[in-house]
Amino acid sequence: MYFASDNSGPVHPQVMAALSAANEGYQMAYGADTLMNEVRDRIRGIFEAPGAAVYLVATGTAANSLALSTLANPWDTVFCSPVAHIHEDECNAPEFYSGAKLTLVPGGDKMTADALRSTILAEETRGVHGPQRGPVSITQVTERGSVYSLEELQALCGVAKEYGLPVHLDGARFTNALVALNCSPAEMTWKSGVDAVSFGGTKNGLMGVEAVVFFDETKAWEFELRRKRGAHLFSKHRYLSAQMAAYLQDDLWLQMARQANDNCARLADGLRAKGASFLHQPQANMIFAEFSRARHKQLHDAGAVYHLWGGELDGADDAEPLACRLVCDWSISPEQIDQFIALL
Ligand SMILES: *Cc1c(COP(=O)(O)O)cnc(C)c1O
Repeated sequence: MYFASDNSGPVHPQVMAALSAANEGYQMAYGADTLMNEVRDRIRGIFEAPGAAVYLVATGTAANSLALSTLANPWDTVFCSPVAHIHEDECNAPEFYSGAKLTLVPGGDKMTADALRSTILAEETRGVHGPQRGPVSITQVTERGSVYSLEELQALCGVAKEYGLPVHLDGARFTNALVALNCSPAEMTWKSGVDAVSFGGTKNGLMGVEAVVFFDETKAWEFELRRKRGAHLFSKHRYLSAQMAAYLQDDLWLQMARQANDNCARLADGLRAKGASFLHQPQANMIFAEFSRARHKQLHDAGAVYHLWGGELDGADDAEPLACRLVCDWSISPEQIDQFIALL
């Protein structure tokens, strides 16, 4: 019963097989491998963007930081949610790589167009003395398991465009959002106004690969230089390519995300039936739920693994409600979920 994170699970066997197959013979290094040509073509096809610049890196932090550093000047701000991964979970790497500062858009997990507009308006009032307006970064799926609708994405991108600002999408859980919205990758990105996307793979069954996609190909060379200078150009790059190629083969990426979201829906239904309350309505593969400490203790003793959200298991008051985060990946079995629910 493992619900700690979607990067705790195993790598999909088809991806392991692809790594093994890629381990035959010799290939040119540093992204000049033949598999990367396939990956680039596939990603351009999937995004309906024949001219897109496509690169692979091994972590989401690298993808976000390098993408944002390519979009932002050191004197710029990056507008993002107060709970954005780039703000809370990347040890200032986006600031380190870009030299820019993050400016938080007040509100909750999801940014609203109005809050974004007023935050943008409050910036750049001090001429050469103040920070300049820079990119907007949106997380899809959000850090609280919510999914922006296409209308919401378009509204945010619309505000950014009014001020001439580029938009970055942190898609560590890109495919979970995609299958939840049942739309196309193009609709969720450039057709809505997104300029660059961190297209996640690691949380959806890969060993460690994220693609960075720029719809404006003039960014390509700068990104390449930044990736190398930032020490994220893999020499044995074929092992990154092989994972991404397997991911995109025969819709494996979509299947795994559907499975993860279905697992999450099953778990959410079970929790609801047991009277748990939700901090956020689960829309993809993450649940933020609340139930009593006594139940958490029982689950913990039975071997369930997940993170409490702002509370401690130890405590005298067994009736006190404690929040937790439960994340499902593709590999969780319905039996594990049912066992968890039964214990509740
Ligand atoms: C996991 C995650 C990342 C990437 O994190 P790494 O640990 O650097 O791979 C980026 N953004 C979000 C929203 C995430 O959940």
